[in-house]
Amino acid sequence: MLDPVARLLSAGPAVLPGSLAGMPKALITGITGQDGRFLADLLYEKGYTIYGLLKGQNNPKTELIQREHPYVELVHGDLCDLSSLIGAVERTRPDEVYNLAAISFVAMSFNQAELTANVTGTGVLRMLEAIRIVGGAKDNPIRFYQASSSEMFGKVRQTPQIEQTPFYPRSPYGCAKVFGHDITVNYRESYGMFACSGILFNHESERRGLEFVTRKITNAVARIKLGLQDELVLGDLEPRRDWGYAGDYVKAMWLMLQQDQPDDYVVATGETYQVREFVRQAFDVVGITDWERYVRQDPKFLRPSEVDLLVGDSSKAETVLGWKREVSFPDLVRRMVEHDLAVESANR
Ligand code: NDP
Ligand code: GDP
Repeated sequence: MLDPVARLLSAGPAVLPGSLAGMPKALITGITGQDGRFLADLLYEKGYTIYGLLKGQNNPKTELIQREHPYVELVHGDLCDLSSLIGAVERTRPDEVYNLAAISFVAMSFNQAELTANVTGTGVLRMLEAIRIVGGAKDNPIRFYQASSSEMFGKVRQTPQIEQTPFYPRSPYGCAKVFGHDITVNYRESYGMFACSGILFNHESERRGLEFVTRKITNAVARIKLGLQDELVLGDLEPRRDWGYAGDYVKAMWLMLQQDQPDDYVVATGETYQVREFVRQAFDVVGITDWERYVRQDPKFLRPSEVDLLVGDSSKAETVLGWKREVSFPDLVRRMVEHDLAVESANR
């Protein structure tokens, strides 16, 4: 395995990109999202020039990126607009494209199914087309990472889930991700593109959106502890997820693009916990043991169809990529609760 700098140098000066000759360049879609920000930090440490695709004419997260990730150069574009993607690839001439942008919230995908299909599904095709049309240097083609999801396994056919487990998506989001995965494999096989699909299981952090159950829980627990909120209202507490830490998972994305051959990998912890257990441990961090009295269930948070059990086997990623998760489940919960306690205390 050559690291990206060595790969560029071995390809010769004709393909050295841009102003910082010798330093690899990455274009990240979804730069304002949880993973985009962790990946940007990782690539910055590795010396990359980083471009982030930003959608909208006045995106409210622009300032956040400029403040916390000032090394990212923002490029305007939208996964629904092929010409903007061609423009972004032409302008940045990246060595690596990480396609993290998506409508990523399963619950929302039921209400906005067509939008989800367009962004999360067809958006992948547009990004691949932009890369194919612009093309990379002959000896150093643009490498592509697609953010696939364990939601593709849905009503699981096999436990734990591996790369060959058949897909059975249970939401418009899952269906769109299956298309994104399949088209990535298809472009690899049809056009010889260096295209990888990372089938990542849920990964969380203090940067996770408040709409997702983990962050909703940790934020509410912090606020309840501080007397700012009385209850935590949730949907189904039974589903099981394989929850890891986002900072660990972006390392796997990068590793996939540093291999000699493109391939697909499951990235997971191999452990599964019920939503209920996440709640219990989060309350435990702030010393509340009778957590049930603060939790109320409301059918409005139930979904038309549910994914009951996700647990992945990432043996291939561990063996081939040498990837290993570092943050355990209890540490993840603690980290998120402590972060939210600090933020909510400061805002009081
Ligand atoms: P987030 O929801 O935090 O981020 C989604 C990003 O997509 C945001 O930057 C958003 O921009 C951007 N985006 C949405 N629509 C468009 C569009 N039309 N054009 C361009 N950008 C757009 O997701 P995560 O960071 O958590 O996840 C990253 C990727 O990994 C996603 O594809 C997700 O589906 C996938 N994934 C995530 C998992 C997880 O547990 N986190 C598990 C498996 C897969 P804006 O902020 O401007 O709306
Ligand atoms: P997902 O795995 O991508 O759907 O991530 P989420 O964090 O949105 O949901 C994880 C699980 O938590 C799903 O099975 C949800 O049905 C369940 N859940 C229970 N209550 C809630 C809630 O109030 N909000 C969310 N987002 N999920 C909930």
